[in-house]
Amino acid sequence: MESTKAFYDLQEALVQSGCPLCRLRKERAEQYLDNLLWENVNDPGIRQAIRKALGFCREHTHMAISHPGAALGLALIARDVWENILQTSETDPHTAPSPRWRRSAVSAERVLTRLAPQAECPVCIHTQEMEDLYLDVLLEGLTGDAPLLAAYEASDGLCLIHFRRALARARDGEALAALIRVQHAAGQRLVEELDEFIRKNDYRFRDEGWGRERDVWQRALLALVGNT
Ligand SMILES: [Zn+2]
Ligand SMILES: [Zn+2]
Repeated sequence: MESTKAFYDLQEALVQSGCPLCRLRKERAEQYLDNLLWENVNDPGIRQAIRKALGFCREHTHMAISHPGAALGLALIARDVWENILQTSETDPHTAPSPRWRRSAVSAERVLTRLAPQAECPVCIHTQEMEDLYLDVLLEGLTGDAPLLAAYEASDGLCLIHFRRALARARDGEALAALIRVQHAAGQRLVEELDEFIRKNDYRFRDEGWGRERDVWQRALLALVGNT
């Protein structure tokens, strides 16, 4: 994906609620799975990558399962992975322990080693690359004319996971200063809303009715771990 498309994606995500990077991460993962299941399910390279990873990670397995119309593609993938698992865990007659050594720890270790994933979940690999691009475009958009600064200031900010990843990628002093300032302000807003939520739970103020702080306890916790 080129930077221009990433820039427009970010612009759109920044006006939505929650961490824009989490939102885009989810969108890219859904899109990747869509392409995979509709077009590339028989691609030998992708099939091998999935085999080596022993399927998808937990998050992306759940995403794939709830993907519409995915049953046949996922059945082919699952069969492939399971066939591979059965082959690798098959007892080798030359190295099989004798009955006397049935409980041999060495043998268990062999199977364990063979069953260890040899690669990361392919959806994770893809979304990680996309996240890096989005973070770079965001940081770039906070310097010079700073075309993304106003939208970023008005947004909910990044979750803590993506804030830390952005910090690790920030190379420019101006972008770094803007990043920290906006995130600090977003964190401060959360604390103020939490205070308001807690205050309104006092019976003396119950009649005041809820405002934006209604669901802040959820947003504040999700901002620590990100939205999946
Ligand atoms: Zn996030
Ligand atoms: Zn994954």
